[in-house]
Amino acid sequence: MNLYDCIIFVAHPDDAFLGMGGTLYKLSLFSNVLLVCASNGENGNNLQGKDRLEELNKSSKLFSIDFISLELTDGELIYNQQKLYLLFLDILKRNNPKYIYTHHPNDKHNDHVAVYRSCITAIDSLWHHHKTNTLLSHTFCFTPIHIDFCDLKKLDYNTFYDISDCIKQKEEALKYHISQMPYIEKNMSKHLALSKFLGVLCGCEFVEAFYECRSENVKSLDSLLGKDDMLETIRKELDCSSL
Ligand SMILES: [Zn+2]
Repeated sequence: MNLYDCIIFVAHPDDAFLGMGGTLYKLSLFSNVLLVCASNGENGNNLQGKDRLEELNKSSKLFSIDFISLELTDGELIYNQQKLYLLFLDILKRNNPKYIYTHHPNDKHNDHVAVYRSCITAIDSLWHHHKTNTLLSHTFCFTPIHIDFCDLKKLDYNTFYDISDCIKQKEEALKYHISQMPYIEKNMSKHLALSKFLGVLCGCEFVEAFYECRSENVKSLDSLLGKDDMLETIRKELDCSSL
């Protein structure tokens, strides 16, 4: 198995592409990316009889990233958090990634929240059991898949990536998720509107926003304020801007 320096933990095959597709593309340009999908997404609308894993395979190939499915039951992840935690812990231990991305804690989908909780618990467990810098990582939560106006004030963004030059790649990757299309189009229009709105505030066209909830020096306020050297390096690499 390859060692991955960037790991993304999601519940369903299309989640990462919808929530952080532009950033995912940029990450793929300079790091070894592994997308860990907790389920095969078998509960999703399957309007054209498409296999969602095959859709994930195609979109991942487009970005030259690897993926695995943990094949837990779609819709029941909330009841499988202990199993998810142990699986995530094993993946983190074997790879010691520098960047970790996952769902937002305020996402309304139970499966998404289960993945977030299991991921954070695994990270915290590694930190607490290895007082040294065994896990030198930065953990980011991407925008909830389902967003509405009332949610925005709860998102607590602290990291903004300029995706103006790869919004097309995000749209291309999402086109492979044909079985989800009506649902993706509805949410994509909201995500695009939010990306544009945040882009205006950040001085570029499109932005994907994240909440960095854990970092190498999370106890230091400097890292959250963007003064940490490593954060600056990541920002430079991802061509991101901060409000
Ligand atoms: Zn999902």
